[in-house]
Amino acid sequence: MGLSNKFKDLESYSEVLSDGYQLLPFAFHKISPDKYIATNIVGEYLTVSRDTLKLLVNGTLLPSHPIYNDAKSKHFIMDRDSDTALDLLALKYRTKQHPISEFTGLHIFVVSLRCDYTCKYCQVSRKMEDVDKFDMSEETARKAVALAFESPSKSIKIEFQGGEPLLNFPIIKFIVSESLTLNIKENRVLQFVITSNLTFLSEEVLAFCKLHNIYISTSLDGPESIHNKNRPRPNKDGYQKTIDGIRAVQSELGKDRIAALMTTTSESLSNLEGIVDEYVQNDLHAIFLRPLSPYGFAIKTKQVEKYNVDKWSNFFKQGLEYIIKLNRAGYFLREQYTSIILTKILTPTDPKYVDLQSPSGIGISAVVYNYDGDVYASDEARMLKEMGDEKFKLGNVHTDDYIELFSSDILLDTLEESIAESAPMCSDCGLITYCGSDPVYHYATQGDVVGKKPLSFYCKKNTSIIEHIFELLEDPGSRKVLESWVL
Ligand code: SF4
Repeated sequence: MGLSNKFKDLESYSEVLSDGYQLLPFAFHKISPDKYIATNIVGEYLTVSRDTLKLLVNGTLLPSHPIYNDAKSKHFIMDRDSDTALDLLALKYRTKQHPISEFTGLHIFVVSLRCDYTCKYCQVSRKMEDVDKFDMSEETARKAVALAFESPSKSIKIEFQGGEPLLNFPIIKFIVSESLTLNIKENRVLQFVITSNLTFLSEEVLAFCKLHNIYISTSLDGPESIHNKNRPRPNKDGYQKTIDGIRAVQSELGKDRIAALMTTTSESLSNLEGIVDEYVQNDLHAIFLRPLSPYGFAIKTKQVEKYNVDKWSNFFKQGLEYIIKLNRAGYFLREQYTSIILTKILTPTDPKYVDLQSPSGIGISAVVYNYDGDVYASDEARMLKEMGDEKFKLGNVHTDDYIELFSSDILLDTLEESIAESAPMCSDCGLITYCGSDPVYHYATQGDVVGKKPLSFYCKKNTSIIEHIFELLEDPGSRKVLESWVL
């Protein structure tokens, strides 16, 4: 009774359709004085002038207008010929949202909090002492693996993190073995990644990674001077060890088995081309230009206060232009954050990146099993814990079962509040379909999981990047490169 009252009868819709067209849900965003992008819930977009946008919104766009058919085929409007428009829109929306139904695919195991580096922006407040206290035990690992396999996801990616995970290599071997054993029955698509600074990359580690098709992810902040300044090691040899490690992985496992990412400090800002060139010189074909995250030592050493979002955005845009130039000259190099957003813009699929999802991907795309068995909703959530705040702790592998962890109030409440479509400012934003929400970040920086978007680094960063990507897509040369980055 309640439901049927929500809809008008069929005729009232037919009247609208027999007289011009009906608008379907969309929003718009100004990207330059006379250029707007209109976007809809399935990620389709139209680039239009202000006058055209007015015609479209006022219902006065004529069928002879150059964008009329585009607006119709991309589900911004429907007219009396659009028999299947709503069904198609619903189908595309289901496809876009499908990753949510797959639930958690990425399972992060923090196998040790110990590390041999003393990075000034370290986000996890590493420890060097006390092996027993800061390394994951077999018992904890066994329970965490069992939980990972309770996820309904057809694909399970297990990522080893730290500290430096190779300082507890025996437990990595144990987790891989446990997972492979369970997978004989489960038959999931199973993948392993070790995120490492590569100091402890021995022949034994390489042979093990080769045997089990394990991917390696590392950090490379740029040329020697920047890398060693950002990521100091007591012997001041961090850069050389990283480069030696990258080359060893490339030659033993294959070039596609290693990826690197960089973190932007104030020193990085004036060294953009040198940083990108470092990736080219080392035959790396993907780079992730990342700002500092406001956790751990990055807060203690005040690194996060050293540049604002405008400075970072300029750095990012210049980086993107330089990377595109290299691509046009023949060297394939993909910027990862841009690739994720481009995939949302140019394809019907969602790459399931935790920080660019609505609801947020915490817990439902990725989850973290800490060395002590605590389970956190995201990597940032456990970073927050290392600063003394357990807000996003879901429970512990020794005391809570799968249902208790993944239907905990803290997870469900936060997910509900992370639906950007109902958040102030986001609900009206023309970029929402390519953006998402980051409740842990907003809680850490503003004390509120929804966040005040006019003051948010996250919002300003995404606005600036997405606007810039749309500008680049207008240029045929840049567009060709960007299309080759789609995931
Ligand atoms: S965070 Fe900002 S850019 Fe993203 S959807 Fe919300 S208002 Fe738009």
